[in-house]
Amino acid sequence: MLKHGVFFGLSLVVGNTLLAYLIGSEQLLAIQLDDPRRHWAGLAAMMLFSLLFYAIFARFREQACTFICPYGRFQSALLDTNSLLVSYDRRRGEGRAPWRRDQDHEARRASGLGDCIDCRQCVAVCPTGIDIRDGTQMECIHCTACIDACDAVMNKVGRPAGLVRFASQDHLERGEPQRFTRRMAMYSALLAALVGVFLWLVDEGKPEEHPVLEHPPADLRGGPWGGRQRPLPVEVRLEHPPGSVRLLGATNPVVPVGQYLQASALVDLDPDRLTGSTTGLELGIYSGGRLLERVSTQFSGPRPRPATPSP
Ligand code: SF4
Ligand code: SF4
Repeated sequence: MLKHGVFFGLSLVVGNTLLAYLIGSEQLLAIQLDDPRRHWAGLAAMMLFSLLFYAIFARFREQACTFICPYGRFQSALLDTNSLLVSYDRRRGEGRAPWRRDQDHEARRASGLGDCIDCRQCVAVCPTGIDIRDGTQMECIHCTACIDACDAVMNKVGRPAGLVRFASQDHLERGEPQRFTRRMAMYSALLAALVGVFLWLVDEGKPEEHPVLEHPPADLRGGPWGGRQRPLPVEVRLEHPPGSVRLLGATNPVVPVGQYLQASALVDLDPDRLTGSTTGLELGIYSGGRLLERVSTQFSGPRPRPATPSP
């Protein structure tokens, strides 16, 4: 029960994270905290995702790794005999036979046996259920659980660790230790550069945030309105320049009692109205047709279109 409790807890986290990726974290938080009756579809999606991941954790791990995750399929296209993989050292391990207390390493060697004592611990811990001693297989996700299991066994029988280790097929066949090659250095540098470019792109793509009201007046907080505590319906209008403004995800925005309303706004302007990389905006906050506050803010980018030369 504890195990399945942990599985379900993890599934909730993973399922909610995936949902946040699809619908945005604000929307997800609203589904979690609002009255459930207002978010039937969102709650159903949340439960569906969580149950899906729970089913994978509890019952279909091997199937997910083998048939759903594309990693294994990529391997057959991307690997060659120089690729660094979780590998079983066949030269050292064969032939296999259970370990006997009365037989030391020399005696095992003399009778044609290797270091593998056929305990199958590497198979027992493998999340995809394969036997790494059969060679590189599509199902291997390189989690290294078999390396740890085998190292523990080697430690117990007094043999050096590394019967299952990261090594390339070529190095294992030649019986050479794995070295950090020029190719590895080149790919590591390339990967570091790609990660750098990715982080830079993520930073570039961050949406601009412009606080419309840093210090909203008491009137703009849901609450004392007409002498009673009640939610405050609001409307945002673009006063200047001509155009329109729309709050995303809030068709009829209402400020809850004693709280603030936070929303992203989509401003639609005629490109000719843009005055450079930032354009001044004047927004009006209304409630029930009454102007509560006029706010000046900035609209960043895009820059105005260059004038088209006349023919
Ligand atoms: S690395 Fe992981 S998936 Fe691959 S054989 Fe070892 S335990 Fe199995
Ligand atoms: S854990 Fe190591 S010793 Fe045991 S069967 Fe696997 S490879 Fe052989």
